[in-house]
Amino acid sequence: MFLADTLEELGAKLSIPADKLAEAVAEYNAGCGVPETIMTPGGPIECPPKDPMTDGPWYALPLKLFHENSIGGIVIDENAQALKNGRPMPSLYATGDNTRGIMMPGNVGSGYIESTISALTFALCSGYIAGEEVSRE
Ligand SMILES: Cc1cc2nc3c(=O)[nH]c(=O)nc-3n(C[C@H](O)[C@H](O)[C@H](O)COP(=O)(O)OP(=O)(O)OC[C@H]3O[C@@H](n4cnc5c(N)ncnc54)[C@H](O)[C@@H]3O)c2cc1C
Repeated sequence: MFLADTLEELGAKLSIPADKLAEAVAEYNAGCGVPETIMTPGGPIECPPKDPMTDGPWYALPLKLFHENSIGGIVIDENAQALKNGRPMPSLYATGDNTRGIMMPGNVGSGYIESTISALTFALCSGYIAGEEVSRE
Protein backbone atom coordinates (compact mmCIF):
# COMPACT_ATOMS: atom_id res chain seq x y z
CA MET A 1 0.00 0.00 0.00
CA PHE A 2 1.20 3.51 -0.78
CA LEU A 3 0.42 6.56 1.33
CA ALA A 4 1.03 10.23 0.55
CA ASP A 5 -0.24 13.65 1.64
CA THR A 6 -0.76 14.92 -1.92
CA LEU A 7 -1.69 13.40 -5.27
CA GLU A 8 1.65 14.65 -6.66
CA GLU A 9 3.55 12.67 -4.01
CA LEU A 10 1.37 9.62 -4.54
CA GLY A 11 1.88 9.83 -8.31
CA ALA A 12 5.66 9.94 -7.82
CA LYS A 13 5.53 6.82 -5.61
CA LEU A 14 3.39 4.95 -8.16
CA SER A 15 5.12 6.30 -11.30
CA ILE A 16 1.74 7.61 -12.47
CA PRO A 17 1.50 11.27 -13.65
CA ALA A 18 -0.28 13.32 -10.96
CA ASP A 19 -2.66 14.84 -13.54
CA LYS A 20 -3.89 11.31 -14.43
CA LEU A 21 -4.57 10.64 -10.74
CA ALA A 22 -6.38 13.99 -10.44
CA GLU A 23 -8.49 13.07 -13.50
CA ALA A 24 -9.42 9.73 -11.92
CA VAL A 25 -10.38 11.43 -8.65
CA ALA A 26 -12.48 14.03 -10.54
CA GLU A 27 -14.23 11.24 -12.45
CA TYR A 28 -15.00 9.42 -9.17
CA ASN A 29 -16.22 12.65 -7.53
CA ALA A 30 -18.54 13.37 -10.45
CA GLY A 31 -20.49 10.22 -9.53
CA CYS A 32 -20.79 11.18 -5.83
CA GLY A 33 -23.70 12.70 -3.97
CA VAL A 34 -26.43 10.70 -5.71
CA PRO A 35 -27.82 7.33 -4.64
CA GLU A 36 -26.79 4.41 -6.85
CA THR A 37 -28.75 1.30 -7.86
CA ILE A 38 -26.67 -1.87 -8.32
CA MET A 39 -28.12 -4.93 -10.02
CA THR A 40 -27.46 -8.22 -8.17
CA PRO A 41 -28.72 -11.79 -8.76
CA GLY A 42 -31.16 -11.17 -5.86
CA GLY A 43 -32.54 -7.98 -7.43
CA PRO A 44 -31.60 -4.29 -7.38
CA ILE A 45 -29.95 -2.82 -4.27
CA GLU A 46 -30.10 0.88 -3.45
CA CYS A 47 -26.74 2.22 -2.21
CA PRO A 48 -26.37 5.49 -0.31
CA PRO A 49 -24.55 8.33 -2.06
CA LYS A 50 -20.73 8.11 -1.99
CA ASP A 51 -18.69 10.91 -0.40
CA PRO A 52 -16.31 12.75 -2.73
CA MET A 53 -12.54 12.45 -2.17
CA THR A 54 -11.19 15.94 -1.55
CA ASP A 55 -8.26 15.91 0.88
CA GLY A 56 -5.31 13.70 1.73
CA PRO A 57 -3.89 11.54 3.04
CA TRP A 58 -4.21 9.54 -0.17
CA TYR A 59 -3.90 5.77 -0.22
CA ALA A 60 -3.20 3.55 -3.23
CA LEU A 61 -3.31 -0.22 -3.60
CA PRO A 62 -1.82 -1.64 -6.82
CA LEU A 63 -4.19 -4.38 -8.03
CA LYS A 64 -4.14 -6.86 -10.89
CA LEU A 65 -6.98 -7.67 -13.24
CA PHE A 66 -7.73 -11.34 -13.77
CA HIS A 67 -9.86 -13.37 -16.10
CA GLU A 68 -12.34 -15.45 -14.14
CA ASN A 69 -14.56 -16.97 -16.81
CA SER A 70 -15.30 -16.64 -20.48
CA ILE A 71 -18.29 -14.84 -21.88
CA GLY A 72 -18.33 -15.63 -25.57
CA GLY A 73 -15.85 -18.01 -27.18
CA ILE A 74 -15.92 -21.04 -29.46
CA VAL A 75 -19.35 -22.65 -29.95
CA ILE A 76 -19.30 -26.44 -29.43
CA ASP A 77 -21.77 -29.29 -29.79
CA GLU A 78 -22.54 -32.06 -27.26
CA ASN A 79 -19.28 -33.81 -28.26
CA ALA A 80 -17.23 -30.67 -27.50
CA GLN A 81 -16.54 -30.38 -31.23
CA ALA A 82 -16.10 -26.81 -32.48
CA LEU A 83 -18.88 -25.55 -34.73
CA LYS A 84 -18.65 -23.19 -37.66
CA ASN A 85 -21.96 -21.86 -38.93
CA GLY A 86 -23.62 -24.61 -36.88
CA ARG A 87 -21.58 -27.45 -38.47
CA PRO A 88 -18.79 -29.44 -36.74
CA MET A 89 -15.25 -28.60 -37.82
CA PRO A 90 -13.29 -31.85 -38.42
CA SER A 91 -10.91 -32.76 -35.57
CA LEU A 92 -11.26 -29.45 -33.75
CA TYR A 93 -12.48 -29.58 -30.14
CA ALA A 94 -12.78 -26.85 -27.56
CA THR A 95 -13.33 -26.99 -23.81
CA GLY A 96 -13.61 -24.89 -20.67
CA ASP A 97 -12.92 -21.20 -20.87
CA ASN A 98 -12.14 -21.39 -24.58
CA THR A 99 -15.77 -22.14 -25.34
CA ARG A 100 -18.89 -20.10 -25.29
CA GLY A 101 -19.32 -21.61 -21.86
CA ILE A 102 -22.02 -21.16 -19.32
CA MET A 103 -21.73 -17.45 -18.63
CA MET A 104 -24.32 -16.55 -21.22
CA PRO A 105 -27.72 -15.36 -20.07
CA GLY A 106 -28.91 -12.86 -17.52
CA ASN A 107 -26.91 -10.75 -15.15
CA VAL A 108 -23.41 -11.94 -16.12
CA GLY A 109 -24.87 -15.44 -16.04
CA SER A 110 -24.72 -15.54 -12.26
CA GLY A 111 -28.09 -17.29 -11.97
CA TYR A 112 -26.71 -20.13 -14.08
CA ILE A 113 -23.40 -20.33 -12.26
CA GLU A 114 -24.94 -20.54 -8.83
CA SER A 115 -27.94 -22.75 -9.45
CA THR A 116 -26.94 -25.06 -12.30
CA ILE A 117 -23.24 -25.68 -12.86
CA SER A 118 -19.88 -24.13 -12.05
CA ALA A 119 -17.19 -23.03 -14.48
CA LEU A 120 -14.78 -25.64 -13.08
CA THR A 121 -17.36 -28.41 -13.50
CA PHE A 122 -17.88 -27.33 -17.07
CA ALA A 123 -14.12 -27.20 -17.74
CA LEU A 124 -13.59 -30.70 -16.36
CA CYS A 125 -16.63 -32.26 -18.04
CA SER A 126 -16.10 -30.66 -21.44
CA GLY A 127 -12.43 -31.70 -21.28
CA TYR A 128 -13.39 -35.27 -20.44
CA ILE A 129 -15.92 -35.41 -23.30
CA ALA A 130 -13.44 -33.91 -25.79
CA GLY A 131 -10.75 -36.38 -24.66
CA GLU A 132 -13.07 -39.33 -25.22
CA GLU A 133 -14.07 -38.05 -28.65
CA VAL A 134 -10.47 -37.40 -29.70
CA SER A 135 -9.45 -40.91 -28.63
CA ARG A 136 -12.00 -42.31 -31.12
CA GLU A 137 -10.53 -40.41 -34.09
C1 LIG B 1 -9.48 -16.16 -9.28
C2 LIG B 1 -10.44 -17.13 -9.91
C3 LIG B 1 -11.40 -17.72 -9.12
C4 LIG B 1 -12.27 -18.65 -9.68
N1 LIG B 1 -13.20 -19.25 -8.87
C5 LIG B 1 -13.99 -20.20 -9.38
C6 LIG B 1 -14.90 -20.92 -8.54
O1 LIG B 1 -14.98 -20.70 -7.32
N2 LIG B 1 -15.69 -21.87 -9.09
C7 LIG B 1 -15.64 -22.14 -10.41
O2 LIG B 1 -16.37 -23.04 -10.86
N3 LIG B 1 -14.79 -21.50 -11.24
C8 LIG B 1 -13.96 -20.54 -10.76
N4 LIG B 1 -13.09 -19.89 -11.58
C9 LIG B 1 -13.11 -20.20 -13.02
C10 LIG B 1 -12.39 -21.50 -13.32
O3 LIG B 1 -11.16 -21.53 -12.61
C11 LIG B 1 -12.13 -21.57 -14.85
O4 LIG B 1 -13.37 -21.45 -15.53
C12 LIG B 1 -11.47 -22.90 -15.20
O5 LIG B 1 -10.24 -23.04 -14.51
C13 LIG B 1 -11.22 -22.97 -16.70
O6 LIG B 1 -10.50 -24.15 -16.96
P1 LIG B 1 -9.79 -24.35 -18.35
O7 LIG B 1 -9.14 -25.70 -18.31
O8 LIG B 1 -10.74 -24.05 -19.46
O9 LIG B 1 -8.68 -23.19 -18.44
P2 LIG B 1 -7.41 -22.94 -17.50
O10 LIG B 1 -7.65 -23.45 -16.11
O11 LIG B 1 -7.07 -21.49 -17.71
O12 LIG B 1 -6.30 -23.89 -18.14
C14 LIG B 1 -5.64 -23.54 -19.34
C15 LIG B 1 -4.21 -24.06 -19.22
O13 LIG B 1 -3.56 -23.93 -20.50
C16 LIG B 1 -2.25 -23.48 -20.28
N5 LIG B 1 -1.80 -22.86 -21.53
C17 LIG B 1 -2.13 -21.67 -22.06
N6 LIG B 1 -1.52 -21.46 -23.22
C18 LIG B 1 -0.77 -22.55 -23.44
C19 LIG B 1 0.11 -22.94 -24.49
N7 LIG B 1 0.31 -22.16 -25.56
N8 LIG B 1 0.73 -24.14 -24.40
C20 LIG B 1 0.51 -24.96 -23.33
N9 LIG B 1 -0.32 -24.65 -22.30
C21 LIG B 1 -0.94 -23.45 -22.37
C22 LIG B 1 -2.37 -22.52 -19.13
O14 LIG B 1 -1.12 -22.35 -18.48
C23 LIG B 1 -3.36 -23.26 -18.23
O15 LIG B 1 -2.73 -24.16 -17.34
C24 LIG B 1 -12.19 -18.97 -11.06
C25 LIG B 1 -11.20 -18.37 -11.85
C26 LIG B 1 -10.34 -17.46 -11.28
C27 LIG B 1 -9.27 -16.84 -12.14
